[in-house]
Amino acid sequence: MSNSHQTAVYRDAAFQGHETGEHPENPRRMVGLERALADAGVLVGRPSPVWDPATREQLARVHDERYLDQLERITASGGGWIDGDTLCGPDSLDVARLGAGAVCHAVGASLSGEQPRAFVLCRPPGHHAVAARAMGFCLLGNVAVGAAHARSSGAERVAILDWDVHHGNGTQDMFYEDDRVLVCSVHRHGGFFPGTGAAGERGRGAGEGFTINVPLRAGQGDAAFEAAFTDVFGPAVERFRPDLILVSAGFDAHAADPLGGMGMTDAGFARLATIVAGWSDALCGGRLVAVLEGGYDPDALGRSVVSTLAVLDGGGEGRVS
Ligand SMILES: [Zn+2]
Repeated sequence: MSNSHQTAVYRDAAFQGHETGEHPENPRRMVGLERALADAGVLVGRPSPVWDPATREQLARVHDERYLDQLERITASGGGWIDGDTLCGPDSLDVARLGAGAVCHAVGASLSGEQPRAFVLCRPPGHHAVAARAMGFCLLGNVAVGAAHARSSGAERVAILDWDVHHGNGTQDMFYEDDRVLVCSVHRHGGFFPGTGAAGERGRGAGEGFTINVPLRAGQGDAAFEAAFTDVFGPAVERFRPDLILVSAGFDAHAADPLGGMGMTDAGFARLATIVAGWSDALCGGRLVAVLEGGYDPDALGRSVVSTLAVLDGGGEGRVS
């Protein structure tokens, strides 16, 4: 049986806004990514969705109203540093809302069956933003907003897989007591931002067991990431039987990344994508929405996204755990 899909790619020139100067999370990431997509010829004939920025209602499912008001005030007054890592310019909230809106649109189209698989290539990233504040280059929790949108659109269970080199602390926080959203993160841990994501963080109350963390040491590479997926996340995802899979797809565990300090390769990311695509084919009708998180070497980011996209188009191995 063929498991081929045509992955919708969400991209917009506006994601080259949110100017941050010499900050590692800057518009040049998107320039490198666009060049890699064009050179690989992978955009020809592909659906190019049209969507709206996330609404206040969509954002307020996971973010505090007072925080959203604060973001509006900061951007209206020209922006500035929100914390030691996170910069906000006059257009930053509009750019972030466009990214979160893309995730909501992709989730809706995936659940309706119109377009089961998508890759949202937005910035700024989202998985560190918590309910009441920005954190770690992230303003809005894109994947969390998408998971909440899926739940309010009728999905019973949503699985989130996060392979960014940093722990997805914001996403974890938002669903820590929730047994309908399974949050799995593999990341570098120990003297590394954001400091959370120990194996003992497993959820609370009804959500106990629905948060899974695999902390790794500096320098680990493809084999360690793959083992986290096959040995730890796989059995949990299979038991959970999600209606939709979301991926926090960061590429800063790549060996070329200036921040990550890990040793992954382009092929390693393709392998993770193969595993996750296989779960989505076996468990939830191929419904998978990947969302860009980190990845700060523009060339490595471009190559890794192209190889991940090829896997999402081709389907996975159709095999669980
Ligand atoms: Zn990261």
